[in-house]
This record gives sequence, structure tokens and C-alpha cells, in this order.
Amino acid sequence: MPQLSKRVGTFTDSVIRRMTRISDETPGSINLSQGFPDFDPPQIVLDAMEEMSAGGPQHQYPITFGSENLRKCIADKYSPRLGRTIDPEEEVVVTCGGTEAMMAAMLSVCNPGDKVIVFSPYYENYGTDAILSGAEPIYVPLVPPTYAFDPVVLEDAFKQGAKAIIVCNPSNPCGKVFTREELLCIMDLAEKYDAFVVTDEVYEHIVFAPYEHVMAASLPGAYERTITCNSLSKTFSITGWRIGFIIAKPEVAECIKKVHDFLTIGAPGPLQEAICAAFTLGDDYYEEMLETYTRKRELFCSGLDKIGLPHSTPQGSYFVMVDISGFLAKEQFAGWTDLQFCEWMIKEVGVAAVPGSSFFAEPVNHLIRLHFARSEESLQEAIDRMMGLKKYL
Ligand code: GLN
Repeated sequence: MPQLSKRVGTFTDSVIRRMTRISDETPGSINLSQGFPDFDPPQIVLDAMEEMSAGGPQHQYPITFGSENLRKCIADKYSPRLGRTIDPEEEVVVTCGGTEAMMAAMLSVCNPGDKVIVFSPYYENYGTDAILSGAEPIYVPLVPPTYAFDPVVLEDAFKQGAKAIIVCNPSNPCGKVFTREELLCIMDLAEKYDAFVVTDEVYEHIVFAPYEHVMAASLPGAYERTITCNSLSKTFSITGWRIGFIIAKPEVAECIKKVHDFLTIGAPGPLQEAICAAFTLGDDYYEEMLETYTRKRELFCSGLDKIGLPHSTPQGSYFVMVDISGFLAKEQFAGWTDLQFCEWMIKEVGVAAVPGSSFFAEPVNHLIRLHFARSEESLQEAIDRMMGLKKYL
């Protein structure tokens, strides 16, 4: 057989998605690994989807950079938040999920050999996005328990000639919500060293009080160098629809549109039209969603406390990092990797998690990531099952 791509040989499949497959193959397992809800999108969205099943032009190729209606909805929603009028023709690109948004942004920004700053822990796609776009990641630690970064270490990374920095806010997997001051610090450095800021803001509406989500692109002078990547997956519980978007200034969006066109042509037409209905939902929708996630966070985190498992409490997103050092210190688990622990947990406890090592540049083996985007019954059941872990501690 001829040799396959060397580039692709340098990374593995997604560990997050792999854990979901293992969980699916294990009867009765509760999947708290890959983050997606087990509840339905709002009724208005389901109704709109049904309407789209009638015949019509929506079944053919949409405009490559997004249906006119959806781009207008996005521009209308984000113009006030960004304090400027976003042009839906020139500054919005609809993509196949946040995943393609990030990839298209990276391919548009990076030349082979360019350096890109990635905070660690990071969402696992960024490492692969960097490899696929020929870029070399420079990792800057977010230091637990607050997951703050050291501005001096960050500036050192910029000094190495970084072309861009990726900012996931709220952060998957550590649940950090970047403060305005932190974002201003990042922006100042990006300006000083003339780098792009690529943001991933897919959990923007899952931010727990008293924390607040600030869009990096809304900061003074920031819009010019920021590529805002986002998705409708989490906001409207439609992770299977694959609809994301990018907001960027026209010259940058122009380049992203070309990359996106040749990667995918476009996100599914009927779904782009259907999701426009969700943009009519008012503040009460977002408030209710946040209340629901706040209750789930409380239920899940207090359950972990009762079991005696040390864990992070997310400021935003629905991910919790659980410290498994207590287990690894026991003879039964001596020498185990976090992946082995997760595989064992699916089989023996019936709960699926993601090994923390897939999110860190540093050699971390003592953390696993769980999420709470599940019904309260499932979360309670997961906690009850994990109560059984106590006997190993
Ligand atoms: N962002 C979610 C997670 O981290 C889902 C990832 C995915 O598989 N697209 O689990």
C-alpha cells in the first residue's frame, strides 16, 4: 500500500468521541464523556424543522457562506453585543459547527511553520487544528485551581513569534470564564506582537453567576484582529445539526469564506433556515436554560462532594474535572493511566468520562472530565453509581 499522509499519522482519533463509542457499546452506561445534552431543542425549533421538510429551495445548496436569513439573525444578535453594525454579507460565515469554524479560521490564518498560542488545558481539537493547518502550538498553562495564566509566560509565548492565540471562553474543559482584565491583557499582547485572536465561544450562554461572559471582539480596538468562532449546538441543544458561525472583519471573513467553500460548501440548508426560528426566543429562554444548568451543576457537584471526589466547579460550560489521584495511589490502580481508569469506570461503574490527559500539553494523568448536560434523573443515577467508588478510596 502507498504511504498514507504523514501529517495525519501524528495525531490520534478524538479521545472524546472514542469514549462515547465505548460507552455506547456498553449496555446501560451513562455517557458523561462527550458533552452534548440528552434533552430536546426548544419546541419552536422542532416545529420549524418540520416545516422545512416540505418541498422548496432550502433542499438545494445554500449560499456557501450561509443562508441570507441566518446570517441576518446572527448579525442582528451580535451587533449590539459587539457595539458595532455587523454586515451579514461581509462579516458573517456560517460553518458546519464550531469545529469547522475553528478549522477554517486556523487554515485562514496560518502558514506552515507559524506558531499559535494555545492555553493548556485545551479542547482537544485545537492541537489537531494546529497540525492540519501546519502550525506549531505553543502551550501556555492555565494554572489550577483558578486556572489563571501568568502574563509573563504569555508574553514569552508571544515573543516566540506567535501568529495567533486561541481563546476558548468559557473554557472547555476547565470551565474558566476569562475576566475582562484577562481578555484586555491578551488583547494588549496580541496588538503588541501583531497576532490574531481566535476565540471559541460556544458555551457563551452557559456562564454561572456571578461570572459574566465578555466577547473578546467587543473590547476597545479588538474587533480588527479577532476571529470570533461560535456554534448554535449548545445554545439550542442541536449538536447533531452542525451549525456554527464566524464573525470577523471583511478582509478576514473573505479568506475564511474561500476555505469554508472548498472544505464543505456549506452547512445543511434546511437546518440553517429552521434554526432562524430560535433567534426569536427572548431573554427568558436564555435565563431558563441557565437556571436549568445551574441546578444540574449544583446537583452534580454536590454529589461529587458527597462521594468525596475533589473536583473543579465550572464558572461556565458544563464540564467538571475530577481528581482521581486518590485511586491511583491505591495498589489496585497502581501504574494505571487515566485512560485505563476511564475504561474501567465505564465497565465497572457504568459511567463514561474523558481522560484528562487528552486536554493537557503537560504530562497530566490524575484528572478525568465529566459533564452534566444530562437530565436530573440521569445525573442522580450517575452519582449513585459513582458512590460505589468510595470503597476503593
Ligand atoms: N465540545 C464537546 C466536548 O468537548 C463535544 C465535542 C465533540 O465531540 N464535538 O465534549
